[in-house]
Parts: sequence; C-alpha cells; structure tokens
Amino acid sequence: MGFPERIAVASGNRHKLREILEICADWPVGWVTVESHPGPWPEVAEPHEGYLENAREKARAVAAALGVPALADDSGIEVDALGGAPGPRSARYAGAGAGDAENRRRLLAALKGVPASGRTARFRCVAVLAWPDGREVHAEGVCEGLVLRAERGTGGFGYDPLFVPEGWDRTMAELAPEEKHRISHRGRALRALRALLAPDP
Ligand code: IMP
Repeated sequence: MGFPERIAVASGNRHKLREILEICADWPVGWVTVESHPGPWPEVAEPHEGYLENAREKARAVAAALGVPALADDSGIEVDALGGAPGPRSARYAGAGAGDAENRRRLLAALKGVPASGRTARFRCVAVLAWPDGREVHAEGVCEGLVLRAERGTGGFGYDPLFVPEGWDRTMAELAPEEKHRISHRGRALRALRALLAPDP
C-alpha cells in the first residue's frame, strides 16, 4: 500500500498524540497535527461499543475535514474481574468529563477486596489509518498485566500508574517512554499498522 505523503493525527488527547508521534518517529511521512494545521478539526464523539468503530469514526471524520489521510487510535483497559470493563469506555469510566485521576479512583473502588490473582487486565488499542478516498487499514495491539491496589509512578497518563505489565515489576507510569512504547498496546498496534503499509520484502 505504501506510506502516504502526509498523515493527520486524529487525537484530541495530547498524551496519546505525543505517544503516537514518538512511536511513529521513523515513518517517512509529514505529520499534520493540531499545532501545525489550523483545521477546522472535527469534534468526534465516541458513540460506538467497539474500539474499531470508534477509531474509524475519528479517522474518517478528520480525513474528510482536512483532505489528508488520518490516523486515529481508540484504546482502553479491560479488567477481567469486571467482565472486561471499562474497555472502550475507559476515558469516561467515572462519568462524562471525568479526568484520569477520577477514572483511576473509580477503578480502584470497583476492585476493592479483589486479590492480586484476580486483578488481571490488558490494555488494548486499535489504530486506523483512513484516506479521504475511502481506503483504510487498521491493526490492533494488546499489553497484558495486573492492576495494583495503589498508584505508583508519575509518567504516562490514564491508568498507567495502576498497571504493571506482565514480566515487569514497575508500573507503566514508572517506565521510560521508550520502554513503554516497546511493550505497549499502542506501540504494538502502530508497528503492526506500519507493517501493513510497508511490508518487509
Ligand atoms: P480514547 O481512546 O480516547 O477513548 O481513550 C482511551 C482511554 O483509555 C484513555 O483516556 C485512558 O484512560 C485509557 N488508556 C488508553 N491508552 C492508555 C495508556 O497507554 N495508558 C493508560 N491509559 C490508557
């Protein structure tokens, strides 16, 4: 399929935007962001129950508005003891407009009394690249781990201070950005997407 010349990053979340640009730093494309393009950038709700549908909606809306291929990610944390919740609703788990700290507090409250063995969870990310002409590619990445009983670390964002990836003894918020990107759901999804655009010979 090949890389497009330019890609607009369809994310209003500045943490996600920064991570996407770090992970994709070696893509041979020009990046279009809210800082470099005056827009208008569409406001996109996340009306769907699935990551793919939400990511697709964001990427298509930005591609249509700017006339540039657009990359979007929809992601969330899935906790086994909660039947996979909050999942695609992770950003608004504690209510519409809730911040990361409130969402983490709600998660800790929901898991009160659940022993370590029952605190398994995973981050999932679906990344979609949509062209204005309707072409599209998408890929998924997953990072397995455990939800702690208390926060640790100040890096990252969202649920990072509560999540210890499998095989590590530090939370996502205690990892350096390069360490996080190597194992994260977002790093995995975006590297899989890259392979679809530029398969190795
Ligand atoms: P959305 O994809 O914009 O709907 O938001 C995803 C939500 O999932 C974020 O607001 C975070 O709460 C959570 N999330 C997604 N990726 C990460 C991550 O890498 N670390 C921590 N939390 C994340």
